[in-house]
Amino acid sequence: MDSREIEADLTEVLVTEQQIRDKLAELARRIEADYAGRDLLLVGVLKGAVMVMADLARELRSHVTMDWMAVSSYGAGTQSSGVVKILKDLDSDLSGRDVLIVEDIIDSGLTLSWLLGNLRSRGAASIEICALLRKPDAAKVEVDVKYLGFDIPNQFVVGYGLDYAEQYRNLRDVAILAPHVYS
Ligand code: IMP
Ligand code: MG
Repeated sequence: MDSREIEADLTEVLVTEQQIRDKLAELARRIEADYAGRDLLLVGVLKGAVMVMADLARELRSHVTMDWMAVSSYGAGTQSSGVVKILKDLDSDLSGRDVLIVEDIIDSGLTLSWLLGNLRSRGAASIEICALLRKPDAAKVEVDVKYLGFDIPNQFVVGYGLDYAEQYRNLRDVAILAPHVYS
């Protein structure tokens, strides 16, 4: 879905499909260099990270394996609850692995800081984070992101995997959702 097709639902396009593609290529080059000669496990957080994972993984020129976790943090609303529950756990054993968590967005940071704590207790050799988007003004806890795409304003955004009530994930760009859609 293209943002022009749902213009009335959006206030502003923040990051275009092309900007995302260029940024992921840039991040992939850094990741390849940093993990040269090591076996990297990409851990995607469902469902929002599906697009980032798909495009980042294909951009990488080295072998990687992928695994997925599903955690709940938002329900159908637009505010982080801070309550994280594992809905689907990893299939892989993390002991001795180099793990890169792939996320769509860091908002309050609560989900990722909880996830980091959880994954750290599983004996990985290293754990780093790659996130496409971050809202610095929404941070409630600091999360150390090694590979970051874009800092964006503290607004509710949709597209490129990010949803509002399960919709808009298939929008190609990242855009601010017009308030009339959710209020
Ligand atoms: P956090 O715990 O507040 O950092 O947010 C965790 C999750 O909430 C993210 O991984 C997203 O899935 C979702 N989320 C945060 N901000 C937005 C947004 O602006 N639009 C859609 N989903 C969001
Ligand atoms: Mg997410």
